[in-house]
Amino acid sequence: MQKSIVKVALDVPLNCLFDYLSDDSALAVGQRVLVPFGRRNQIGIVMGFSQSSDISVEKLKSVKQAFLNETPLDAEILKLIQFSAEYYQYPLGQAVMSALPARLRQVTPAVARKQFAYRLTDFGRSQTAAQIPKRRLVTQRVFLALLANHTLSEAELDLISSSARKAAKQLEADGWVCAKQVHFAQRVAEIPATTVPELNDEQQLAVAQVVKDLHHFKAWLLHGITGSGKTEVYIRLMQHVLKQAAAQVLVLVPEINLTPQLQARFRSRFSGIPLVSLHSHLSESERLHHWQLAQSGEAKIIIGTRLSIFTPLPHLKLIIIDEEHDGSYKQQDSMRYHARDVALVRAKWLNIPVVLGSATPSLESWHNATTLATGLKTTNKYHLLSLNQRAVSAAQLPIIDCIDTTKVNLQQGFTPQLIEALKLRISRGEQSLLFINRRGFSPVLLCSACHWIAPCTRCSSRLVVHLGQRKLRCHHCGYEQKIPNQCPSCGNADLHPTGHGTQRLEQTLAQLLPAARIARVDRDSISKKNALVEILDKVHRQEIDILVGTQMLAKGHDFPNLTLVGVIDADSALHSPDFRASERLFAQLMQVAGRAGRADKPGQVIIQTQFPEHVLFNALRRQDYSSYANAMLRERQQMQFPPYVFLALLRAEASDFNLVHKFLSYAFRVARELNTKAVVYDPIRPQMERLKGMERGYVLMQAGNRGVLQALLCKLMTQLRGHSISVKVRWAIDVDPLEF
Ligand code: ADP
Ligand code: ZN
Ligand code: ZN
Repeated sequence: MQKSIVKVALDVPLNCLFDYLSDDSALAVGQRVLVPFGRRNQIGIVMGFSQSSDISVEKLKSVKQAFLNETPLDAEILKLIQFSAEYYQYPLGQAVMSALPARLRQVTPAVARKQFAYRLTDFGRSQTAAQIPKRRLVTQRVFLALLANHTLSEAELDLISSSARKAAKQLEADGWVCAKQVHFAQRVAEIPATTVPELNDEQQLAVAQVVKDLHHFKAWLLHGITGSGKTEVYIRLMQHVLKQAAAQVLVLVPEINLTPQLQARFRSRFSGIPLVSLHSHLSESERLHHWQLAQSGEAKIIIGTRLSIFTPLPHLKLIIIDEEHDGSYKQQDSMRYHARDVALVRAKWLNIPVVLGSATPSLESWHNATTLATGLKTTNKYHLLSLNQRAVSAAQLPIIDCIDTTKVNLQQGFTPQLIEALKLRISRGEQSLLFINRRGFSPVLLCSACHWIAPCTRCSSRLVVHLGQRKLRCHHCGYEQKIPNQCPSCGNADLHPTGHGTQRLEQTLAQLLPAARIARVDRDSISKKNALVEILDKVHRQEIDILVGTQMLAKGHDFPNLTLVGVIDADSALHSPDFRASERLFAQLMQVAGRAGRADKPGQVIIQTQFPEHVLFNALRRQDYSSYANAMLRERQQMQFPPYVFLALLRAEASDFNLVHKFLSYAFRVARELNTKAVVYDPIRPQMERLKGMERGYVLMQAGNRGVLQALLCKLMTQLRGHSISVKVRWAIDVDPLEF
């Protein structure tokens, strides 16, 4: 028989598929295979078949092994990955392979074993142990244990004897016992359902609108202030969708370990419905297991971070994207996809609704949804749903005060107003949160004599003082050294930690308010898996008065007794060269402010700033997202920034800047000569010129629509990949970049 040629995607940085021979007629597209590649074997995915190859058939190697007992990746997910690889200019094989859980990228076949539980049949129940021969002692014990217990899992059988499973299987063969595959939902501890609130009018309207249109593609932007009950809206929509016989819902969340409460809430409201999570904190085997449950359709609810957008979901009927503005939806290395944007494509192709929720939508989404602002070009691609009130009627919005730090005497970084407010909370037995976007003790170590500042030798950045460990540490590359005793530049022994970080605030507070119970939350203090959960539990148990932390704290935690939020030094973002910095700051501050006064106690927010009259703070004081968003959009429209134009960055780095320069100059020339309608800017260096010992630079490309940019990038990539200089630098294309 004529051997067919199989096109295989491999984890190889070349933008092509690889041809192999196979005469296995059972082999299907999407199947995992083992193939020889170079001197080793590699796992790949079958992408298609062909009768011919560019390589002569005699030279082609054969597929070594096909994992025919595994469900192949379905056409829908392969198409989505293919689209993403093209759009984000990433090698297809690597895109396909990185969508798989790590276990499936390994050579050993990895099918999660099915779990069984055993119980007696009616026939078995009518028997007695005496009927089992005495020499089959283990079988007798298993029988007796089954009589006493309703069912026994394999793990419970193992406790009886190492041969108990075999005995159970024998009893099954005799018809005494039946085995049932254990549904994983039964292994999830059932959490008692919480009380179900009645929807308010705004929520009802939002739910009703989406429910009316559940059977086709529609993109909804659910804009609701913090505490307005967006999650409750998601839950109701999911309930509607899950009423269908076969339906799955994908809920995307920014960072799962920061949202344990959200998960617990879903589990309690969907008790008995199979729910899995997918994120990078799972063990490899958990990840595989959850992924397979999603792929088989058994899991009905999938809560996951950005990576879960590429999970095969045969019955996907609804996608929800919580905190859709969050930057963590964009992958910052390998394939630089944006999970929200990929989700929209997926929903469109599947013809299902997608709901994007946020208190502070990204300007991209706002621009796609809003019709209100005059003089603004908008697209009306999304349908806007608004929740303008807090769900719990008694919960009021917090009062926001901006204190001018140039006009008062700071006490170790604190204004008198903030200290007074903290004292008041302690005397009332209420809780406070202090927010500063800088971990460590202080951001720089300064010599008072020559103004030397401890630099990182590998990055264009300063070393952060970590006093507790007596270390200087680079937050960009992780470099560490001991704090020097004297200035390496002039020998002066008077070195000052200057400026404030979380550790210093914590220490200062302990001095100013000795009675307060203080906890710190930043990446240093919660490096361990459950540390954050433990601290949050303590806050809930009222064992903490003041929580000091970075933006980690800004997300979806609900503390009823928290009535004060202090923001220290938010100004750096006001004057950043990154045009998205103010959008991010505004979103963060709205989120942080939303933490205050969620229950029946009114909250207060105190922001220490040198620019209290800045438009950003004015909008924040009024908690007026839309007016500030419209103002930012107007600015973007004038300046021709996204979402009014589309950008792509060609990033390059090498230890020798000459190489970077050569590469980028070549790319720049090629891009210009291609002569498309796109604008190609001169190569420049980023603010952080050196990172981890690598010299960096980029070329920015811009176009009025995606098509023009895509056409340019495709041609440019072909040229770059073919040129010898491209192997001397590390380079990548970042389409729709979020950070510069
Ligand atoms: P968001 O996701 O918009 O921040 P949540 O859905 O978390 O808001 O709701 C905030 C709080 O209000 C939660 O404690 C939730 O249980 C409660 N809640 C939501 N909807 C209602 C409602 N209709 N009536 C009473 N309480 C509600
Ligand atoms: Zn000095
Ligand atoms: Zn560094």
